[in-house]
Amino acid sequence: MAFYEQEVGVHISEDKLQARVRELGAQITRDYAGKELTLVCVLKGSTFFAMDLARAVDLPLTLEFLGVSSYQGGTETTGEVRITTDVSKPMAGKHLLIIEDIIDTGLTMSFLLENLRARHPASLKLCSLLEKPARARTKIDIDYKGFVIEDLFVVGYGLDYAEKYRNVPFIGVMKGK
Ligand code: 5GP
Repeated sequence: MAFYEQEVGVHISEDKLQARVRELGAQITRDYAGKELTLVCVLKGSTFFAMDLARAVDLPLTLEFLGVSSYQGGTETTGEVRITTDVSKPMAGKHLLIIEDIIDTGLTMSFLLENLRARHPASLKLCSLLEKPARARTKIDIDYKGFVIEDLFVVGYGLDYAEKYRNVPFIGVMKGK
């Protein structure tokens, strides 16, 4: 039995996730054909999604990683966003596609879009695996969206609860919470 089975219930199965990742990858492949694409993966939550998605995109691409902190752990946003790890190269003139795990209140992404736009990329788009519209506090346009979910706290496939459960292979909900 897997370590998480008593604690985490399946919300979006591994098969559904992988099928959607393949669809998004095909769409991104068509849209960026002939362009030099840079995926900006937002640490740590988007990493599992971003690595699967990168393999589903049939184009040469560059990976960059950017860490932001907006949560102190637990389930509540603090509203305060800061960059904890920055990308390794200048972003000016690049076709940037931000890869995020979830847009919840939208405050993190609002900050990030503004921050990256100020670096003068050739284009800037957003791909998010999940969107939780019930909690939106600012409008964020998601160019590539995996799934819309209800107002649930989810874990797995990169998403944590107090740094745990990122390696659960599906999107799950904590049992009894
Ligand atoms: P926002 O600024 O949109 O409220 O929050 C974005 C960040 O909060 C996400 O990148 C993610 O790290 C965290 N977050 C929001 N909702 C959830 C959730 O349901 N589960 C987990 N594990 N993290 C979440």
